Amino acid sequence: MPVSIHIPTPLRPFTEKLDVVQADGATVGEVLTDLTTRYAGLKQHLYAADGRLRSFVNIYVGDDDIRYLQKEQTPVKDGQTVSIIPSVAGGTGAVATALPALGPDEVRRYSRHLILSEVGMEGQQKLKAAKVLCIGAGGLGSPVAMYLAAAGVGTIGIVDFDTVDVSNLQRQILHGTSDVGRSKLASATDTLKELNPHVNVVAHDVALSSANALDLFRGYDVVVDGTDNFPTRYLVNDACVLLGIPNAYGSIFRFEGQASVFGTKDGPCYRCLYPEPPPPGLVPSCAEAGVLGILPGLIGTIQATETVKLILGVGQTLAGRFLIYDAMRMRFRELTLRKDPDCPVCGTHPTVTALIDYEQFCGVAPSQAPAAASADAMNDISVLELKARIDAGTRPFILDVREPTEYQINRIEGSVLIPLGELPQRFRELDPNVEIVAQCKGGVRSAKAATFLRQQGFTNVRNLTGGIIAWVEQVDPSQPKY
Ligand SMILES: [Zn+2]
Repeated sequence: MPVSIHIPTPLRPFTEKLDVVQADGATVGEVLTDLTTRYAGLKQHLYAADGRLRSFVNIYVGDDDIRYLQKEQTPVKDGQTVSIIPSVAGGTGAVATALPALGPDEVRRYSRHLILSEVGMEGQQKLKAAKVLCIGAGGLGSPVAMYLAAAGVGTIGIVDFDTVDVSNLQRQILHGTSDVGRSKLASATDTLKELNPHVNVVAHDVALSSANALDLFRGYDVVVDGTDNFPTRYLVNDACVLLGIPNAYGSIFRFEGQASVFGTKDGPCYRCLYPEPPPPGLVPSCAEAGVLGILPGLIGTIQATETVKLILGVGQTLAGRFLIYDAMRMRFRELTLRKDPDCPVCGTHPTVTALIDYEQFCGVAPSQAPAAASADAMNDISVLELKARIDAGTRPFILDVREPTEYQINRIEGSVLIPLGELPQRFRELDPNVEIVAQCKGGVRSAKAATFLRQQGFTNVRNLTGGIIAWVEQVDPSQPKY
């Protein structure tokens, strides 16, 4: 009696690329014997050496798993459909059980996927069954979540606790002008639901931490790292490696982006590449250094592409490769990444077997900050104090250590600009005998400038707390903020 056997994508190379083949037999066992006689290459994929069906291969008759019927003795009738479902197909465990069916609207919606042989009905069902966690609903998280939603990924989790600021809109296309002031999660959920009501959006309104990361990640098939700081990046990496979840990584800076896939079974992790973070302050954040608004669109789209490939189990992912994109030269470069056997997390003798304190690991431990700050705290000056001094006619010399582009946006009248990076060459332009107030955007760079000047023998240097942002908020609201 001929029955139709559905062949999953990974096994089609052994069935002359056919997705459905016919075989004869009265039971599942007989049908599979006939199948593996016709297509001998299939045998080793379905059966172990002892002749038993491999444990990661599930067989369905119609919609039913034969493990819950009569196993290989399950009778089959003429015209019935037998499906082979390898539990590891896709490499993500996303399809451990029967795949969800698509409704008529979904079939129409995903028709351009369904006619791609590399996706097809089974691939689209894998996407529907998949659960992807986006860390952050910002620049990278926006295109990632939107394209994954449009592509039909069934469950999209988002971790974020921020609210939408008008300065986000230049790149974070999940959010619109009317969303300013709303939570990013609420805004993102609305956008994704509008794109595709079939998607289940899971909002995680928390700050990711060592205490909650493992519980949060568990159950997801792929994690997409869209974070903008080192403690969270190492936390995401380590949690993914510990749980065996692949991590579609991306990062952006000014006009450059990076992408890779970490944490796959045999591939390297972020720590294989960078075992330790740079010292705090060496690498400025996008908030300090700026970022081309389109850049996260490109890098995030690469992350979304890798996520879909991981779910489908098709193509060659960026695991073991590190992609570097330079928007100015419009050039991609690719580095080979190797899994480091001495990697502290994914190596052969890992030393990190549980999540650690990543703030401390990255040198930004809160416990260290107050001690360092208190020594200089008496040298701080508030914006209101500075305003009072100016009004009283005892104006100090105001040294602005921001970049010229920032100085064009707003400034304290009469301040002198020497960017922090030029200070070591130019500090002799300053008079060591006058009182200097160093000032930047928020007070971090100017604190470094004040420390540097004191090291050069300046005795009367103060740091403006809160920088130009505090000045605009509390003293001069007529100027724009950035
Ligand atoms: Zn590693």
